[in-house]
Formats: sequence, structure tokens, C-alpha cells
Amino acid sequence: MLIDLFSDTVTRPTPAMRRAMCEAEVGDEQLREDPTVNRLQETVAALLGKEAALFLPSGTMCNQVAFAVHCRAGDEILLHELAHPLLYEAGGAAATVGAIFRTLPGPRGMFTAEQVRAAVRPPLHFMPRSRVVSVEQTANIVGGVCWPLAQIEAVCAAAREGGLACHMDGARLLNAVVASGTPARAFAAPFDSVWIDLTKGLGAPVGAVLAGSSDFIEAAWVFKQRYGGAMRQAGILAAAGLYALEHHVDRLAEDHERARRLARGLAGIRGIALDADRVDTNIVIFDVSGAGLGAGEFARRTLASHGVRFTDLGPTTVRAVLHLDVPADGVERALAAARAAVEG
Ligand SMILES: *Cc1c(COP(=O)(O)O)cnc(C)c1O
Repeated sequence: MLIDLFSDTVTRPTPAMRRAMCEAEVGDEQLREDPTVNRLQETVAALLGKEAALFLPSGTMCNQVAFAVHCRAGDEILLHELAHPLLYEAGGAAATVGAIFRTLPGPRGMFTAEQVRAAVRPPLHFMPRSRVVSVEQTANIVGGVCWPLAQIEAVCAAAREGGLACHMDGARLLNAVVASGTPARAFAAPFDSVWIDLTKGLGAPVGAVLAGSSDFIEAAWVFKQRYGGAMRQAGILAAAGLYALEHHVDRLAEDHERARRLARGLAGIRGIALDADRVDTNIVIFDVSGAGLGAGEFARRTLASHGVRFTDLGPTTVRAVLHLDVPADGVERALAAARAAVEG
């Protein structure tokens, strides 16, 4: 059996989740008459401490819709230089909204309030209008890094001083919640818009939920419709999300524990470099250059010899993501595969 550490997006709905989908009460979502979608939206709004929420087909659409509500063409979005909307959304808000991205550097996918203050532009007619700051929780591509609450609050306070809106790309917010013990509503409080993905660690097949004030969500409905994200009997999908929120949140701790175990094991293999103490959540990133190997060759070897799929993230950088569908012996098999790969 394949041990797929490519991403936490590879999970398949469990039999119990499929039953919940099968039995979902449904209606016309576009008319706001799907009771299961409505229940999911209310559940996520309450979880995040917001007035309202909106079910969308994907996290990517949550980012697009939120930026569309916050920005007009020519506005500037401040975000980390390795943020998802910049790297993996096919041009994203630049194409759909006409907004520009202004990137901020910073260790581990984070930036500071000082950087935000320095980046906010004065209101001069020949400058783009600084409009939104976007924070990714957890910061994905740097290794599922959990932003501390105090840093989030400081960044958002700086953004507000400058008149900017605050957006959280919370694709893995619940990983941060479980890892830190900080409630979701505390992380979400400083933001005008925040969303969670149902298809990452939560293990649902489709969907994400965007939350904010009632006014924000009313405005978001317009773009949901415009982008083709308004659906019909979407309760079948929302039921999976509700099931996931009920049954798959606490268990994220298990993914985190396994990620740490994998990281400690990898750190003990000659030629593999990583800081095992810096694995905050379910993502492990390591470097294989010490083994004289490229990341692609490493990933090919582990797949061929042990059926373990790692991702080659950079020339010598490899990623592993732990999730619901990694079997009980998954970490041990991944370590055996990694050992064999570096030994040639
Ligand atoms: C996966 C992801 C997205 C996009 O979500 P999809 O549901 O795949 O469209 C956005 N931001 C981050 C940080 C992600 O990890």
C-alpha cells in the first residue's frame, strides 16, 4: 500500500463520512435553501467568532472572493513572499481583481508589524492603495509553521493603523489551533475575513468556508455567484465538512505527533538535515544535499523501493505531510525508505 506523504489533500472520505454525505438533507444552495450548507456556514461562523460564513468550492476561491471584496483594481495586497495566493493560484487576485501583490520576506513564512508599517504606502494619487494584509496560518510551504497569536495581533494592529483590511488564509488554521491550544476564534478575531479548508487535514473531499461580518459575507455572495461558485444541492458536500469538523479536528494532534516522530527519525539519518524541534504541525521539510542526492532522485527512490511518496519541493528540499490516511506503520516505513534512499 502506498504511503502518500505528498499532501494532506490526498485523503479520501471515510466510510462514516460517506454515510453522512449520503444521508444529508439538501436544497438549492444558490437560493440559500440547502439546510446542510446553512448549518455548515453557521457552524464555521461560530467556530471562528464571526457573524456569517459562506461555503465555497475551494480555498483558492475563498482567497479570490475575499480579495475581490476588499480590493479594487490597482490596490495592493501585502503578503509573505512564499504565500499560497502568490505561488499556487495561477495569478490569483492579479487576474481576477486586478490587485497587485507586494511581497514581504521573513523567516519561516512570517513577517512583522514593523514590516507592515514600513510597507503601507502614503495616500498619494500616483501610488497604489495599500489595501489588505494577508496572513497564512499555518504557513504552508515553509513547513506548516504556526504564527504565534501575539505576532498576528501585532501585524493586524499595524495593518489597521494604516487603514488596511486583514485577511487570514486559514487553510490549516485548525492545525494551528490544535498545536497551540489557542482557540480558533482568538486567532480569527483580528481579521475581517478568514477561511478554513475542509480538504486538508480535515479530510473532506470538497470545499472551504469563508467567514466575516454579515456585510462582508453579503458582498462575498456576489463574487461566489460571479465566479461560478454558487452550487445547487451542495449539502452533500457540506455534510462531509460538518462530519470533519465534528470528528477530525482533535485527531490532528496525532498527525502532529507523527510529524515530530518522522522529523526526529529523519534528523538521525546521515545526509539528511532538518531542525526537528521546529516541526509545529503536520508538515516536515528537510534537505538531502548532505547525501549527495537531489530531492527528485530521493523521492523516486523512496517511491520505487518502499512505496513512500515524498514531494521534491526544491532542488534538494523534500516535504512530507502527515494526515488521516497515513497507516499506523507509515512513519516507520517512511524512515526505512529514507534510510534506503540515502544509502543508495
Ligand atoms: C491548499 C491551500 C490553499 C488553497 O486551497 P484549495 O482548497 O486547494 O483551493 C490556499 N492557501 C493555503 C495556505 C493552502 O495550503
